[in-house]
Amino acid sequence: MEDNNLHLSLKRKNRFESTKSGYDVVIVGGGVNGLGTAWDAALRGFKVLLVEKGDIGSGTSSWSSRMIHGGLKYLEKYDVPLVRESLKEREWLVKSAPHLVRELRFIIPFYKNNQNSAMILRLGMIAYDILSFDKSLKSFEFFSRKKILEKEPGLNPKDLKGGCAYSDAQVDYSERLCYEIALAAKEAGAEILTHVKAIDLNVSNGKVNSIKIKDELSGEEVDVPTKIVINDAGPWIDDVWPKEHISLPRMNGGTKGTHLVLHSFPGAPSDAFYYESDDARPMMVIPWKDRYLIGSTDIPFVGDLDTASATQDEYDYILYETNKVLPEAKLTKKDVIYAYTGVRPLPYSEGSKVSDITRRHKIVDHKDKYDGLYTLVGGKLTTFRQVGEDFGDILSKRLGKNVKCKTRKMKLPGGNITSMEELRNQIKNTGINETLIRRLADQYGTIGVKLSKFIMEKPERQEVIDEAFGLTVGEVEWAVTFEEAYRLSDVIARRIMTGLEDDLGLGSIEPVSKICAKILDWNEERRLQEIELYKNYIKRLEVK
Ligand SMILES: Cc1cc2nc3c(=O)[nH]c(=O)nc-3n(C[C@H](O)[C@H](O)[C@H](O)COP(=O)(O)OP(=O)(O)OC[C@H]3O[C@@H](n4cnc5c(N)ncnc54)[C@H](O)[C@@H]3O)c2cc1C
Repeated sequence: MEDNNLHLSLKRKNRFESTKSGYDVVIVGGGVNGLGTAWDAALRGFKVLLVEKGDIGSGTSSWSSRMIHGGLKYLEKYDVPLVRESLKEREWLVKSAPHLVRELRFIIPFYKNNQNSAMILRLGMIAYDILSFDKSLKSFEFFSRKKILEKEPGLNPKDLKGGCAYSDAQVDYSERLCYEIALAAKEAGAEILTHVKAIDLNVSNGKVNSIKIKDELSGEEVDVPTKIVINDAGPWIDDVWPKEHISLPRMNGGTKGTHLVLHSFPGAPSDAFYYESDDARPMMVIPWKDRYLIGSTDIPFVGDLDTASATQDEYDYILYETNKVLPEAKLTKKDVIYAYTGVRPLPYSEGSKVSDITRRHKIVDHKDKYDGLYTLVGGKLTTFRQVGEDFGDILSKRLGKNVKCKTRKMKLPGGNITSMEELRNQIKNTGINETLIRRLADQYGTIGVKLSKFIMEKPERQEVIDEAFGLTVGEVEWAVTFEEAYRLSDVIARRIMTGLEDDLGLGSIEPVSKICAKILDWNEERRLQEIELYKNYIKRLEVK
């Protein structure tokens, strides 16, 4: 599709063309892991390009349970190093992005027929606590049957033996988390091009020498010289290169996971719930943005990764399991506002049971056939910084630059916060409408102070165009002008965040698209086309 904008698109076109000058490393995929890799590598002084075929964070990183967690369930597999690594990263994230990542208390009910006995769960809790010895979150506590029923009266009392509470963390908007990592990488010097797809790899004498990329908005293609290529394409890793040209064994064995989004319901818990399904899988009921997120499923997936959506079986499974543990809920499909589905990037292993597939990340070095090409297999949302550090260490060694990882001691761009109260005061002092303060602080962190000043500069930017959300004209202008949003879906789904509201952002799509059109110089035909594309995009979320 033609991109008509003269100012921003010309700038983007120039940036695309200047990639011909070459890089130390080109990263494919702008999910949490590719972005974490770009951030680490740029901070070590490497010349970095990241290309993302869609928008920042538009892949699996948008469709998770939004938990920043140690992974209690990995203890069942005795994967202590993975749990310790995840708990360390959880603590780093709680401190580095306190506006986006916050403590969440979980309740685990113990039932007579659980696969794990109450004793095993107790031992698991103690181990989780010991492995997070450096945490700032609360410790676990155990409850008798009577106490847990007092605390959560909606719980099914049949065969209930007791329970416990423990803490993990939650990221409300993993989309904004991804954007902030991208911003951090850009500030460190990385070039990040969205709507740009990696389409081929050029290899001579077994060594990578360039990558071919295509601008999905203009159709233009260029060859970008580079020493290293990192395939960070999540569940797409096997689809990046043309098979007839680059032949590698299958690496991804991703499983599909669906979450349902609902309003509060009878018996809804005040804390999050973590419980065992009939088939001994972990299920969660999570308070999220004044609603509940329930799920998820875990099913081997083959199909179109870009349009994976919930099936009737998944609705039935999730609703049945929720009604089982919270019998007053009596949830049906009619209660579901929308559903979202993602495919976990997991290592492929023929014939393995889904629950047995490791959740650890692995870096594959393809030096035997394509020296200079690396692929990330797996990798959670929680551990993106560690993935970046691992790649940074490889790059430092390989390219002979003795620079240590810097991200561990850094914060994300909006995260330099002494206290949320002080941040809210700073936003308040800009004179912004009182009703916006809390949301801007939570959504943007310290960036919210700059954004509030921007909104207050012009009265027309203060106009509210989505009453329920409190969205202002200024926020849309900010997203398009400063936050690398080029499509309507980038703006609605991953910057201003109305795309996760009950109406999926449709209530304000007209004014939002008009602001985008003005700044991005879209004609009326293009504006209407963007609206259609967005409506098409959200079809996967609608309850069918
Ligand atoms: C149901 C579910 C629940 C989960 N819950 C949690 C959780 O609670 N906590 C947690 O820590 N983790 C969780 N995860 C895992 C986590 O979400 C993912 O592992 C993580 O987001 C993967 O990030 P990524 O960057 O590797 O991949 P992605 O986010 O998928 O990013 C890969 C990117 O590569 C791009 N791409 C693909 N091909 C190309 C190409 N040719 N050129 C350019 N770009 C390309 C894609 O568009 C995509 O944006 C969950 C996952 C699922 C599915």
